[in-house]
Amino acid sequence: MVYDIVIVGAGPAGLTAAIYACRADKRVLVLEKATFGGQITSSPCVENYPGFVKMSGNEFADKLLEQALGLGAEIEMAEATAIKEQDGLRVVKTDRGDFTARAVILATGARHRPLGIANEEKFVGRGISYCAVCDGAFYRDKDVLMIGGGNSALQETVLLSDMCKSVTVVQNLSFLTGEPRLIRKLEEKENVKIILSHVVDALEGDTDLRRVVIRHAETGEKKILTTDGMFVCIGQMPENAAFADRVAVNEAGYIDAGEDCLTKDKAIFVAGDCRTKRVRQITTASADGSVAAVAACRYLDN
Ligand SMILES: Cc1cc2nc3c(=O)[nH]c(=O)nc-3n(C[C@H](O)[C@H](O)[C@H](O)COP(=O)(O)OP(=O)(O)OC[C@H]3O[C@@H](n4cnc5c(N)ncnc54)[C@H](O)[C@@H]3O)c2cc1C
Repeated sequence: MVYDIVIVGAGPAGLTAAIYACRADKRVLVLEKATFGGQITSSPCVENYPGFVKMSGNEFADKLLEQALGLGAEIEMAEATAIKEQDGLRVVKTDRGDFTARAVILATGARHRPLGIANEEKFVGRGISYCAVCDGAFYRDKDVLMIGGGNSALQETVLLSDMCKSVTVVQNLSFLTGEPRLIRKLEEKENVKIILSHVVDALEGDTDLRRVVIRHAETGEKKILTTDGMFVCIGQMPENAAFADRVAVNEAGYIDAGEDCLTKDKAIFVAGDCRTKRVRQITTASADGSVAAVAACRYLDN
């Protein structure tokens, strides 16, 4: 079986690409290794997607998937591990076998960035979480920390503040970088405390995380925070190493491509958060998905 297009990643970029390619009568397979819908499924509330005043990330993801499937996209739960060229076609190698296509769209997005300090891995699922939507309910009526001060961290803090006893936000900079509207919302909450200019220095506990040592970013002074849990929301990182032999990847791991979504391989296109760009949002991921699909269809039709 040879697909017209294999899309790697079923986030907003990959599923939008699937919608466009299916509407152009292409046979499309979407590969997803973890969660249909991608990162946005971690968002409790999306308020900046045009045309939708408010929706949950899961609601948006469900609709996208339904739309892609309804138009004929096929899906497979598999992790792409490499792309090889064979007889002018592209073979996507996965943990569930090989899938052959005339063109490939990489829409692998990004995943949460860990703190990268000692004991972090040991306490994941034992006090450390990277997703308030997924794990917040485990901390009902408990005291938790949120590490990070950007939009995602603040959105997650709003959610946590409605179920936890208290949420303490720890931000490395001397200011929060999220939208003023979100900051105002948090300032109105009595159970939210904000600690600026501090970084996480050490994680302590027994089987579970119990204490987080934070350090002042300038003075170096340390403080111990006793906590029931810690949510880490300090940005994303791409995972494109498996494809770096076929597409150019920059030093941060993002696939080098401009607004045209083309790569150095004429049969491989790229869309969404996994490529070099300034704004990583659903709008820009979906926009890329459509551009990459149209480019892939044009390549196939010529
Ligand atoms: C908590 C949170 C809140 C957010 N809130 C908003 C918001 O309010 N508004 C907004 O516009 N944006 C928001 N974003 C950002 C938005 O979710 C992303 O910009 C968008 O999801 C990017 O879409 P994408 O398809 O490029 O990548 P992703 O959503 O990351 O999807 C990529 C998919 O590819 C899969 N994948 C990766 N590698 C492989 C592989 N090798 N094989 C198979 N599958 C693979 C991943 O599992 C993933 O499902 C938020 C993000 C987070 C984390």
